[in-house]
Amino acid sequence: MQRLFAYALTAAIGIAGIQADAAAADPHLTPDTSAALDRISADSLRGHLSFIASDLLEGRGTPSRGQDLAAEYIAAQFRRAGLEAVGDDGYFQTAHWKFAETNLKDFSFQLDAGKEKLSIPANLLSFSLAQSLTLAPSAIVKIEASDAAALDAQSAATLAGKVVVTNLPDFNAMPHEQAMTAYKGWQAYGAKLAKLHPALLLIVDRVHPAGDAGGSGRLIDPESGGETVSTVPRMTIHSTQAIQALDALGADGGARVSVHVAAPVERAVKLRNVIGVLRGSDPVLKDTYVMVTAHYDHLGIKGGKIYNGANDDGSGTVSVMEIAGALAGMKQRPARSIVFMTVFGEELGLFGSRYYGRHPILPIKQTVADVNLEQVGRTDSSEGPQLNNASMTGFDFSDVGAVFQKAGKLTGINVYKNEANSDFYFGKSDNQALADQGVPAHTLCVAYEYPDYHGPGDHWEKVDYANMAKVDRMVALGVLMIANDPVAPKWNTANALTKPYVEAWTRQSGQ
Ligand SMILES: [Zn+2]
Repeated sequence: MQRLFAYALTAAIGIAGIQADAAAADPHLTPDTSAALDRISADSLRGHLSFIASDLLEGRGTPSRGQDLAAEYIAAQFRRAGLEAVGDDGYFQTAHWKFAETNLKDFSFQLDAGKEKLSIPANLLSFSLAQSLTLAPSAIVKIEASDAAALDAQSAATLAGKVVVTNLPDFNAMPHEQAMTAYKGWQAYGAKLAKLHPALLLIVDRVHPAGDAGGSGRLIDPESGGETVSTVPRMTIHSTQAIQALDALGADGGARVSVHVAAPVERAVKLRNVIGVLRGSDPVLKDTYVMVTAHYDHLGIKGGKIYNGANDDGSGTVSVMEIAGALAGMKQRPARSIVFMTVFGEELGLFGSRYYGRHPILPIKQTVADVNLEQVGRTDSSEGPQLNNASMTGFDFSDVGAVFQKAGKLTGINVYKNEANSDFYFGKSDNQALADQGVPAHTLCVAYEYPDYHGPGDHWEKVDYANMAKVDRMVALGVLMIANDPVAPKWNTANALTKPYVEAWTRQSGQ
C-alpha cells in the first residue's frame, strides 16, 4: 500500500464451535465449503511467507532476481493447486519493459559559493534523470514553492541556464489538512517550473541525512511514452555542509553549481504478473470472473538493507496462494470462475495491476469483482490492535463490502468501514487499476499502518498467522458467495465518489 507522499497470538479457541453453529444456520456454509475454509492453515501461511519474505529474495524489488524467484514460487503453488494457466507463458503475464540503470561513471556535483567550494558525493544526493546531465558552472536562483509571486516574476528568459534552489516542504511534520494543501502547492510549483525550463531544480531536503545516489535506476514503460520523470531535471541535496553554504547566500548570491551525471544504461527487462484460474462449474457463469489479487513486489534493497516486505505485501501474496489451494480442493466448484493473481511493481506506482488493466487476459466486462489483499498479516496497527478485524477500502462504493461483512459474521471477523482510511486508501493499491476499468474492486486490509511499514524491519516472524488464517477464511467465503451468486455486485451509484467507476463500467458493458 502506498503512503500519501513519496513517499506495519491469538488461538482460534472456540471458533470451530461458532462455525459449526453458523454452518447449521447458513446456506453459504455447506460441508464442502466449511472443509475448504478449514484447509486454510496458519502453519501453511507461515511456511509460504518465511520463503517469500526471506533475505534470499532480497526484498522483491521491481525488477530483480528475487522478484523472479518469488514469481516462480507463486506459479509453483498455482500449479500444485491445479489452477488453469492462462498467461502468455504458463502462469506468467509478461510485460516487456526497459530498465535504465543509474550510471555513476565520472559523477561530479560541485557547489562554488565564493569562499566555499564543495564537491558533493552522489550518496548525499537523490535523483532520477531521464538523460545525462552536464552543467557548466551555472548561477542559482532561490524560489520557494510557497512564494507564488517570486515564481511569477520569473520567465523562461530569466531562468534560462539557471539552477532553481528550493526547500522541500516537510509534509510528514504537518497536520493532515495542511499537508494536503502544501502537497498540492508543491505539485503546482513543479508544473509551473516545467514551463520555464530552468537547467536544474535543486531541492533542499533537511530531513533525510542521506540520498539514494540515483538508486539502481528506473523502469521505462514503453506504452506510457517511455518517460516517467519530470521534464526539468531534478536533484535533491541532503549534504548538511552544502545546505549551510546555500543558506548563507542571498536570493541571488553568486553561487554556482556544476554537475555531471552520465546517461543511464538501458537494458530490456521482463516483468511478470502471476495468474491462474479456478474454472467455475456453471455452463454460463464459468465465463465470468471473480478476482483475488495482491502485489508480490516490495522495495528491494536500499542503502545496503533488505526490505523484506513480509506484511506489505507478502501477507497478501501468500493469502492468494493459500486461498487458491483451499478452494481448488472443493468437490463442487463455484459457479463463476475465480482468478488468482499477484502483480509486480505496486510500490513504484501500481505498474503491474495497471498493466493488467490495459491488457486483461480475461475480459473485463465479464469480470464481476476484485478483492485485493494488502497488509493482512500484522495486527499491531498504529490505530491499535486489530484482532478479528478487517477493513475494506471504498467500503460503501459497491455491494462487495456488504458481502464480505456477511462472510465475516460467519467466520468471526468484523469487516468494517474505517471512517478515517476507507475512502482515502481506495486509490492507494492495486484495486484502483481494476476500478478504473469499471470492475467493482476493493482492497481488504487489517492494518493500514504499522511499525516497520516500508521499513527494513517488516519480517515474517512479526506476523500473526492465526489471525491471518481467520481473515483468509473470511475472504475465501466472501469470494465464494460472489462466485455462487448469479447477480453480480454493482457500484453504488448513490455515492458520488463512484462516478468515474460507474462510467467505466457502463463503457465496458456497452450499456
Ligand atoms: Zn502494499
